[in-house]
Amino acid sequence: MKDQILAARDRGEFYRLDGMRLVSPSGHTLHADFHRGPNDEESYVAPRLFLDATIQQHAIECGACFRQAEVKEPLLEDGRVAGVVARENGTTRTYRAPVVIGADGVTSVIMRHLRPEAEQHRDTHRAVALRAYVEGLELFPHKVEFFLYDEVLPGYAWIFPARDKVANIGLGMRLDVFRRHKRNLNQMLHDFLAMPDIRARLTNGHTLRDVATWQLNFGSQERLQHTFDGALLVGDAAGFINPLTGGGIHNALISGVLAAQTVDEALRRGDVSRESLCVYEQRCDEAMWSGMRRSFFYQRFLLNYPTLVDWLIRFLGRHGGVAKTFVSKL
Ligand SMILES: Cc1cc2nc3c(=O)[nH]c(=O)nc-3n(C[C@H](O)[C@H](O)[C@H](O)COP(=O)(O)OP(=O)(O)OC[C@H]3O[C@@H](n4cnc5c(N)ncnc54)[C@H](O)[C@@H]3O)c2cc1C
Repeated sequence: MKDQILAARDRGEFYRLDGMRLVSPSGHTLHADFHRGPNDEESYVAPRLFLDATIQQHAIECGACFRQAEVKEPLLEDGRVAGVVARENGTTRTYRAPVVIGADGVTSVIMRHLRPEAEQHRDTHRAVALRAYVEGLELFPHKVEFFLYDEVLPGYAWIFPARDKVANIGLGMRLDVFRRHKRNLNQMLHDFLAMPDIRARLTNGHTLRDVATWQLNFGSQERLQHTFDGALLVGDAAGFINPLTGGGIHNALISGVLAAQTVDEALRRGDVSRESLCVYEQRCDEAMWSGMRRSFFYQRFLLNYPTLVDWLIRFLGRHGGVAKTFVSKL
């Protein structure tokens, strides 16, 4: 996988990062450097088009068979999942499988058909986000930027550099607060770009493209069912987004590895019932739950109070060591 990542970097698809800027509600800025990993790994901003292609290529090289189809629903037989019903090249087909892994994202049809209605995500554990690309913005090279200001809390706006003067920008906010204040994401983006510090960095003739909105389901809601007779959910289909950072790729990969391990063991036992697969939920809890709770706590009790965020960023800005520890714990 490392070779594919380095090749993507050399083709200019991945943009190297060496640090971040965190801007507080009253404009204090915290700078933190990113450390290389234990094997000298670097950090990158990677557009999903390129990241997903890199992962897909790796999966195919490892033996996965790729077919393009739209899953319509799980195939249910006697209450057990026995495959999927999908549309492929204009025809509806049935694919049978001993186990189905629902990896179809936040709007997962597998999840919606299998998880009980009463167990869907609540608005306090969800967010909405908007992302766009801006061309013509002065950047801090190789730095990601996060902006925490009154109107976006609990949430943040971001600027992720993609290449010279081109950035992925966006903002996200917890859904219950977004609804309560009757916010509008397009208006919020407009207001963000109109903030004096941002407006001053926009060049004449800058353009905005690929504006899109999504929902995010946090992994901080307790007791959600991720396993069923003959199926389990991974990544956003399960709802494993970090409630503070809004990041979900790392947890999606962790859950993918745990799902593969669990399914492999279940197939060897010849038992793919929920009882046999539910060790997966325990493994996910062990790998992610304490981090989710900690992030949920920070999000609930910190990001709700702009003055506190301001104080914290000023404090961390003066104590570099504490800042690095704090950022690494998020
Ligand atoms: C605006 C925004 C910005 C984000 N930024 C970050 C970030 O910087 N870092 C980070 O870690 N996370 C980020 N996230 C979260 C991250 O995108 C997700 O957590 C991550 O993509 C989850 O991966 P996944 O594979 O579970 O789902 P997805 O990436 O959503 O993949 C699901 C796949 O399933 C396919 N699919 C869906 N339905 C069907 C169907 N019916 N049949 C067949 N295929 C189907 C989709 O086409 C897609 O390819 C962001 C989210 C948003 C909304």
